[in-house]
Amino acid sequence: MKQKAYQFWFCTGSQDLYGEECLANVAEHSRIITDALNASGRLPYEVVWKPTLITNELIRKTFNEANMDENCAGVITWMHTFSPAKSWILGLQEYRKPLLHLHTQFNQEIPYDTIDMDFMNENQSAHGDREYGHIFSRLGMERKVVVGFWDEESVQKKIGSWMRTAVGVIESSHVRVMRIADNMRNVAVTEGDKVEAQIKFGWEVDAYPVNEIVEAVNAVSQADINALVEEYYSRYEILLEGRDEKEFREHVAVQAGIEIGFERFLREKNYQAIVTHFGDLGGLRQLPGLAVQRLMEKGYGFGGEGDWKTAAMVRIMKIMTQGMKDAKGTSFMEDYTYNLVPGKEGILQAHMLEVCPSIAEGPISIKEQPLSMGDREDPARLVFTAKTGPAVAVSLIDLGDRFRLIINDVDCKKVEKPMPKLPVATAFWTPQPDLKTGAEAWILAGGAHHTAFSFDLTAEQMGDWADAMGIEAVYIDKDTTIRQFKNELRWNALAYRK
Ligand code: MN
Repeated sequence: MKQKAYQFWFCTGSQDLYGEECLANVAEHSRIITDALNASGRLPYEVVWKPTLITNELIRKTFNEANMDENCAGVITWMHTFSPAKSWILGLQEYRKPLLHLHTQFNQEIPYDTIDMDFMNENQSAHGDREYGHIFSRLGMERKVVVGFWDEESVQKKIGSWMRTAVGVIESSHVRVMRIADNMRNVAVTEGDKVEAQIKFGWEVDAYPVNEIVEAVNAVSQADINALVEEYYSRYEILLEGRDEKEFREHVAVQAGIEIGFERFLREKNYQAIVTHFGDLGGLRQLPGLAVQRLMEKGYGFGGEGDWKTAAMVRIMKIMTQGMKDAKGTSFMEDYTYNLVPGKEGILQAHMLEVCPSIAEGPISIKEQPLSMGDREDPARLVFTAKTGPAVAVSLIDLGDRFRLIINDVDCKKVEKPMPKLPVATAFWTPQPDLKTGAEAWILAGGAHHTAFSFDLTAEQMGDWADAMGIEAVYIDKDTTIRQFKNELRWNALAYRK
């Protein structure tokens, strides 16, 4: 996955009422802030300084240039002085990318000994940013507001975190999901309106006959397969468990062929996410396990049993975490089975095979076992256990008249004992605020068994993404109570009625 060098424009608002000297200071201050943000090392993308916006014409022109600039993923605005907000109406109405309103001030402390009216007029964002914020509320426009001194670590981190959301918003319209299987028969929660998904999120979701991709798999040369099998054998532990060494290797080679064939097919046709279905494998000899796990690790989105909504979310969340130092991983996931022992409650997370090794801690092994479902040869898969710590799990559902994103803060833990007979990769988490409340809220909200899961994103980032997409978001976290949550769902049903 190649990270695009997105940029964010830094636009400072003012007006020509204050004289040349004041405007020169405004420009200098915003340059200092831009330089400091870039030098902080806390922003994943570059900030680009723009000349102070002081007229309707310049505001409108700048926002339209931002729309047209392919590298610009958003604009950061700040009113150093007062900028009458009517001047912003046309520009904002024509603007189509994420916007951050940075409510800051050049000086951190009031200069008690020297402050006079000139200083106050020059440094009045407490005043100007309120006028500016008003027009967004009046226009009903989404924006992110970040408040605080620009050189403070927490403020810079918040800007950096929003940048990742903004890139998720911009990149959403570049997500193309390949369906080589339909949704599993009779399953409701993985279904959805693909036209509406394209209208809301920009996703293209297309079907291909599974045997077209099988041709691509069959076309992979033996030499390419052998080379990849060598890589697997050098990188992962082999758990033969009494199986014949030669047969084991042949099964692994089938997954190598699938990985190479799938990736070539996806690249050639420009898709960044894929869904499969264990019941619809055409000429594939095995359910793609190891192959899909490796594709996810490379940044492709994936959903099991034809779940294109989760596949697209996994892809977007992988893009949002790109280039993150010490990233702990992002994966497709499924709620499987509970531990209901008091004090040790949690949900064991896994899938038939397809869990991304980016979330693994410790050794990763290749294992072969029969699938209890489907009718193919025993697939090779990567097995491991997940890291621990706070993470976020999201489910995007289609309620018929709207999409809802359910966002749950979860705490990943180690299970008490090893599970030697379980032949799949796993995670184990307790949803916040606790298992009972978390699961009850999730079920009341209609959340799926499939989730897009990440150690590296926050509920705030996912909620901001949903806001930018104009869809409903509900949070299940430490503050959730069932009574309040049920009311929220009721009220949202009205708020999002078409
Ligand atoms: Mn599933």
